[in-house]
This record gives sequence, C-alpha cells and structure tokens, in this order.
Amino acid sequence: KAAKLDHGKQDKVMVSIRVRPTESTSAWYPTPSTNSLKLNPECARHAPSSSAGSNTSFNFDAVLTGSANKPVYTTVARSHVHAAMEGFNAVIFAYGQTASGKTFTLSGDEDEPGIIPRAMRDVFGFIKRTPEREYLLRCSYLEIYNETIVDLLAPPMMAKTSPVQIQGGAGGEIVLAPLREEVVTSLKSVKDVLKRGEGNRRTACTDWNERSSRSHSVFRLVVESRERGSSPPSEDDDDDVPSTMSGRHTPGPNGRHTPGLNGRQTPGLNGRQTPGPRLQARGGRSVQTSVLSLIDLAGSEKATSDKERTREGKYINTSLLTLGTVIGTLADNAAKHKADHVPYRNSKLTRMLQPSLSGNARISVICTINPDVSAISESMSTLLFAKRIK
Ligand code: ADP
Ligand code: MG
Repeated sequence: KAAKLDHGKQDKVMVSIRVRPTESTSAWYPTPSTNSLKLNPECARHAPSSSAGSNTSFNFDAVLTGSANKPVYTTVARSHVHAAMEGFNAVIFAYGQTASGKTFTLSGDEDEPGIIPRAMRDVFGFIKRTPEREYLLRCSYLEIYNETIVDLLAPPMMAKTSPVQIQGGAGGEIVLAPLREEVVTSLKSVKDVLKRGEGNRRTACTDWNERSSRSHSVFRLVVESRERGSSPPSEDDDDDVPSTMSGRHTPGPNGRHTPGLNGRQTPGLNGRQTPGPRLQARGGRSVQTSVLSLIDLAGSEKATSDKERTREGKYINTSLLTLGTVIGTLADNAAKHKADHVPYRNSKLTRMLQPSLSGNARISVICTINPDVSAISESMSTLLFAKRIK
C-alpha cells in the first residue's frame, strides 16, 4: 500500500472533547484551553468513581467549544478522511451522553453540516485533485441495536427478517452479509442514501428517541482506487465498473445498481445472488481498498429505567465498555510497542470494526459533553472514558 502518510508522527488514537454551548451560567469548569480541561475543585467530588477524585485536570488532543462544525472537522476528522483516501482504514466515533451533541457533531444540520457531509465533500474534492487514480466509492449504513445489526438501506421488512451477520474470512477479514452497499458518485447521491437510511430507521421503530439514543449508527464508505492507465479503456473492458471520476452512474451487471460486498456474492434486491461492482486490478495496477467508518454511538448515560437496566442498557454498557477496552488496549499497544490481547469479539461493534481498528488504522474519538452542572456526573464519566482510551 502506498504509505504517503507518516504514521510514526501521528498517534494511533486521537481523543478530543467537544463541549456544547449551554444557557447555564454555572459551568463546572473554567474556560478550557485548546487541549486541556480543568475542573472546579469542588466539582471533582461529583465524579462517578473514587479514582476520579484526584483528576482535576485532563489533557486531550483537542478541546473544542462552540457551535461551528468546520473547525471540528479540520481538527479531528480531516486527516482521518485523507488517510482513508490513501488506503488506510479509519474510524471516527462520537461518544457521549444523550443530548451532548454526538449527532450534531457527526451529521449537523443545514446551517452547520457535520463530519459526515464534510467528509463526503472532502472525498469528492480529493478525487478531483487526484486525476492519476480512479476511484470507486460504495457506502453502507447500519445500526446496531441490542447486539443485532440492521441494514438501514434494506427495506425495513427485509431488514427485520434478515439481520446482518458478521462472518470471519480466512485471511482475517470481516464480511458483513447481507449488507447493501450503494455506489455513490456525488455528494447528492450520498445524501440520498443517508436520507433513505434515516427514513428506514425511523419507520422501523416505535419510539424513535429511545431507539436513537440506544443504538449505534454506522456509516461506512468503502474506498477502492487504482492507478489510471495511460491508454483509454479498450472494448474488452466492458467488465469495467462505474468510476466516480467519470461522474457516470453506470448500471450494474443486471442493469441495476447492485449491492457490492467485498467482491463477494450478496443477495440482491430480488433475493438472488448478484456480484457487486468492484475495481479490477489490471496490467499490474493493483487495487487499494480501505474503509472509512463514521459512528454515532449509543448514549453513554447510565440506565435510567428498570427496562433499560435489564435489556438495552445492559447491551449498550457492554458494547461501550468493550469499545473502551479495545481502543485503550490498542493505544497502549501502539505507544509501548506491546501486543496485548485485544477483546474485539466481546461486542458486535468491535468485532465488525476489527479490521478498521487494528494494524495501521487511524482512530479518532470525539467525546461530547454537556457543561451544565446538572450533567456533571455523566460528563465526568465521559472524561474518564476519554482519558482511559488515550
Ligand atoms: P446527541 O446526538 O448526543 O443525543 P444532539 O446532537 O442531538 O445530541 O444534540 C442535542 C441538541 O443540542 C440538538 O438540538 C443539537 O442541535 C444541539 N447541539 C448539540 N451540540 C451543539 C453545539 N456544539 N452547538 C449548537 N447546538 C448543539
Ligand atoms: Mg443523537
């Protein structure tokens, strides 16, 4: 793989804090600097665990405040998106209690587009600036709820009856099936895909607020690229696939767009097996594949009802706990050149992301907090999570 990035100079895991604006005048910390957050000493004792008592100052890769999403993108996401375009797997997470700003940070709104739309704009800009390579982009959108993976791009009825399964391949790769992957060729087509997924997500559940705060949503972009040949494609190149460079929207082999799945056979719309579009290695031009995953995690707050404590809450706590352990171990292994066991298999999320977290993959975790005094206990627990994974 072309290693244009110098990973030696960049940490494996970037951890940042984003403090949302508040109406309240009594925040529990003085104005933060660009990479550290101090607590008012009298607030530290509200910390959820005794070990936090002595932690009154925290250092992170970045501390972001305010409502502007652009600086957030530039500081904690852009280099990860570029790494994905250059062949490295990259994952960006938003972690925090419900209403602390995870969705605002990742998706944003019309006025303040978040990381996902900015990343996609950046991706298409990157492709335009890289005429020597041709790219194929496929995206998928899924949700993990109660350790069940739901394909948000499948019709809700079908998604319900056939949850996505994680299959381990021989070479250590992970295959998700059945999972739709849509070829995208423009910002508009990505927005359409996201909108459709969001729509399916809303119709599939009875209590949207509950569900959205209790599930992880995962937007995945598979980036394939190869060096562009000096000669134009010849007649026998009719196995060619749509190139985002050309801006064409070529139909798949059966005249429709078909879901691709790491080049494997996947159930098509009609339930038949159809091959997905893939770039082919040709004339010594190898295909580089990487995955960019943008993840809006379930709310990190403690379970509030008995129902949650016994069911959903348990799953969420387990998967967020596992995520913390996995990322913490990876960061530690990278910093100390160790090879401690990483418990990917303890949750669907980490299992699914294994290839995107291991090796030379880049990880950015944005921990969102609410500065209200009323939220201090949850905010402290988020700060401790952030500290643990750094
Ligand atoms: P979460 O996804 O963590 O549950 P949201 O992103 O939905 O939280 O945020 C809750 C509310 O607060 C939304 O109305 C959102 O627009 C607003 N909000 C969150 N963070 C910010 C921010 N940094 N600037 C302005 N508004 C924000
Ligand atoms: Mg949200």
